[in-house]
Amino acid sequence: MNIILIGAQGSGKGTQAEKLSTTLNIRHVASGDLFRKAIGDQTELGLKAKKYIDDGKLVPDEITIAMVLDRLQSPECANGVLLDGFPRTIAQAQALDRGLNEVNKLVDCAIYLEVPRAELLKRLSGRYICKAHQHVYNIESNPPQVPGICDIDGSELYQRSDDRGEAIQKRLDIFFSETIHLLDYYEGQQKLVKVNGNHSIEQVQKDLTIAIIERAGQH
Ligand code: AMP
Repeated sequence: MNIILIGAQGSGKGTQAEKLSTTLNIRHVASGDLFRKAIGDQTELGLKAKKYIDDGKLVPDEITIAMVLDRLQSPECANGVLLDGFPRTIAQAQALDRGLNEVNKLVDCAIYLEVPRAELLKRLSGRYICKAHQHVYNIESNPPQVPGICDIDGSELYQRSDDRGEAIQKRLDIFFSETIHLLDYYEGQQKLVKVNGNHSIEQVQKDLTIAIIERAGQH
């Protein structure tokens, strides 16, 4: 299956995608993680993307589309993917449809993880991620056992530069003015499924799994 997880920053989509991809045995591909890796490795792509990311802006479509489509061609994605953070614009969604179509594949469903904006702001300002594998924590709702250290791999936790101050507001504005149009796009293709993300991590995980099983049963 090729599944898209749509959700604002702080909706929990990264946390959920990580668990779901393991359950479904498909690859978790997060465009933000690919960018952060490229920045860490100081590649040309990373250098190009960094200024947009630090500023809370979207990286231009042509850079993002090429990076993600390239990743989707790798053998580890052959069994299916769970896309997290991509597409974020209609042009990206159309490019994804074309790219998958060329290899006789398609998007099976697009899940929207709904969380109110006030809750998103609260979650984002308390969010910390680990340096080694981007595992996500929240100082209030999901703290690590040892402050500042990842429970899973023991690496140091840090706050993303775009999870501070004005960049948070800017990123949410972009989500609610631009990315939100993806809901109409996938609704039009009868692929949209909405899941309430304003519950505990475990509850949302259950609801997502049920939604995907129901969806698979319709095919
Ligand atoms: P994320 O970890 O998904 O919040 O992504 C971090 C940042 O990477 C975003 O704020 C954007 O600057 C950039 N980015 C990630 N995915 C995309 C995308 N699909 N289109 C454009 N920019 C993106």
